[in-house]
Amino acid sequence: MSALFPTYQKWEIEPVNANGSWLTDQDGKRYLDFTSGIGVLNLGHCYLSVKQAVEQQLEKFWHTSNLFQNKGQEEAAGLLAKATGLNRVFFCNSGAEANEAAIKLARKATGKSKIVTFHQSFHGRTFATMAATGQEKVRTGYGRMLEEFEYSTFNDSVQLAEIVDENTAAVMLEMVQGEGGIHVANQEFLNTIKEVCARKGALVIVDEIQTGIGRTGKPFAFQLFDFQPDIITVAKGLGNGLPIGAVIGKEDLAAHFGPGSHGSTFGGNPVSIAAAKAVLQQILDADFSAEVSEKGQYFLNKLKEELQYDPSVKEIRGVGLMIGIELKEEAQPLLEKLQQEGLLTLTAGPNVLRLLPPLTAEKSEFSLAAEKIAKAIKTKTVIQG
Ligand SMILES: *Cc1c(COP(=O)(O)O)cnc(C)c1O
Repeated sequence: MSALFPTYQKWEIEPVNANGSWLTDQDGKRYLDFTSGIGVLNLGHCYLSVKQAVEQQLEKFWHTSNLFQNKGQEEAAGLLAKATGLNRVFFCNSGAEANEAAIKLARKATGKSKIVTFHQSFHGRTFATMAATGQEKVRTGYGRMLEEFEYSTFNDSVQLAEIVDENTAAVMLEMVQGEGGIHVANQEFLNTIKEVCARKGALVIVDEIQTGIGRTGKPFAFQLFDFQPDIITVAKGLGNGLPIGAVIGKEDLAAHFGPGSHGSTFGGNPVSIAAAKAVLQQILDADFSAEVSEKGQYFLNKLKEELQYDPSVKEIRGVGLMIGIELKEEAQPLLEKLQQEGLLTLTAGPNVLRLLPPLTAEKSEFSLAAEKIAKAIKTKTVIQG
């Protein structure tokens, strides 16, 4: 019997080795890994410059705490500030922690406490971020939620304008809802958020934990639109596998996060920071983003070519390398079949097969994945492994 809490329905696969887009299991079977560790390994497994940066830091020292000067943090913060057009950064260890900090900051800076989020959103598993998450299944069984979170319908401008009021500290959203099924925000809706928040004195928080760090073909997904948030949160791809998250905000918020107002023992530790700096050096390159866009378009077109008229496919959608295939049936059997065929994928909600390939994957790997998916969808019966 396992000594672990059974919080995860685990797969049979035990990785023994991984490199780039490929992962090898305990039986020597190789898989094309289009999960990227749930949107974390944007540069693929064991990316060389990240590995070297981490190794170099491990040689020097591992941890000091945030009482000490930390040049690496300053540099990583500088890169994030420059890339987002925002000014100040707080480092933490995970996505939920980043959102937790963003919620605290928004409440403190505005002196108000209502946070508006959206149905089907996902913001994390802590008490505040669970309350922020617009999915009943995440909150069930935990008693009374942290108060003053209200949910609006994603891409519904009319409803949003009704929900945001004088007591609203912030509207918090994903530019592309990830866990919720790959739903992309539209510009008209974003214009409403901008206008309503300005009018009511509410901040805009963009959760870029899954969409950020190059995933959508821009360093951050808000940059695909005419939209400027007050606060953004990142995590997943930031350390390419090392745990790190960050809150990035406007200059006038700095006064509200003064000494003693927030903190983290591990946040921005030198090893994770070394990884993050190496990641940012790669993904902030304009050519890199252009390539991700191009690959995303190529993959999406390939999938559409193969599948758009298939009777079990409802819609194929996404942006950059964040792609969802919505089925007219459950997605889990397809995920299992693809595992047998050597392709690792995710789901997002019950009916969407979610693809988060490494941004470094090659064209041949995208064609191979598209072929495997098309074949698996067209030949319905599950082959016994
Ligand atoms: C994964 C995710 C989170 C939570 O991140 P953790 O590191 O698991 O705490 C929050 N928001 C979004 C959009 C995510 O995809």
